[in-house]
Amino acid sequence: MSDAAALVPLPVPDEDTKPFWEGCRRGELLMQRCAECGHFRFTPRPLCPRCRSDRCEWVPVSGRGTVYSKVVCHPPVLPAFAERVPYAVVLVELLEHPSLRLLGNVLDAPPEAVRIGARVRVAFQEIDDEIALPQWRLEEDPRSE
Ligand code: ZN
Repeated sequence: MSDAAALVPLPVPDEDTKPFWEGCRRGELLMQRCAECGHFRFTPRPLCPRCRSDRCEWVPVSGRGTVYSKVVCHPPVLPAFAERVPYAVVLVELLEHPSLRLLGNVLDAPPEAVRIGARVRVAFQEIDDEIALPQWRLEEDPRSE
């Protein structure tokens, strides 16, 4: 790991998010769903925002979605990200429900190849023994346009 990589801030799983991160570690994208009314929610939290139930289940989702929004980061950035610029940060809307939106990076694609509305598929990037980040890969060949 380079010095810069060691500075990358990582998620710290807690009681609410631990199942999500354990799923990512296994290569499985799990979403929290209310066991009473079936409402999906992300980010994970103890109560359903629709019916206030504290009962939930973790269900696997397709890991497929579309780019809802994007920004391209240019210098200055935190030292941990200096080697990556310019890079795209995307908000991906999962196919299962419009309320399921995850932030991440698109791997192996230059930022200009990432369009809003592009189809993407999750790709788990192993960081250490505990954390694998859900990132994204384009499903379409950006050179085919
Ligand atoms: Zn509910």
